Amino acid sequence: MKLLLAGIALAAVAAVLAGCSGGTSEQPKSGGQAKSEGSGGGTGDAATAATPKTEEEWKAKLTPEQYRVLREQGTERAFTGAYWNNHDAGAYRCAGCGELLFKSDDKFDSGTGWPSFTQPAKDGVVASEEDTSHGMVRSEVHCAKCGGHLGHVFDDGPKPTGLRYCINSVSLTFEKAPEK
Ligand SMILES: [Zn+2]
Repeated sequence: MKLLLAGIALAAVAAVLAGCSGGTSEQPKSGGQAKSEGSGGGTGDAATAATPKTEEEWKAKLTPEQYRVLREQGTERAFTGAYWNNHDAGAYRCAGCGELLFKSDDKFDSGTGWPSFTQPAKDGVVASEEDTSHGMVRSEVHCAKCGGHLGHVFDDGPKPTGLRYCINSVSLTFEKAPEK
């Protein structure tokens, strides 16, 4: 019995170690000054000017909290964001690049303290990646256009999709629909 328990404990430790090594190994970029401005300056059209390319440009564009969540995969504290309890009709756009990501039609009260949606506004605007940080296996979601971290998607949502996109308010900007 003791041997069995020891075996289980070892397996648990191994699982945690595996989780850590897979997850956030590429993280620390805070001091990395990417000196790539000179090399990549090809055709300077309006679209590339609007969406930053380097972390320096992102820092200049975003608030510290937006930068922490969008660029460093942070999470805002539950029930503190601007939109978890927003019931207005309108569109939710990426705070990084302005892409339309979610619509109020697909928003529901999840009780989690984060704005929650059953689906993105369109196929392909939100991309997903496995996230094994914090000893959990979750599906991270980010803006497909600028790569900004949005939150996670879980499969315990309501109909019709059964999905719950759990999104940080700070990753979004809200555009209220005109009053009818
Ligand atoms: Zn974006």
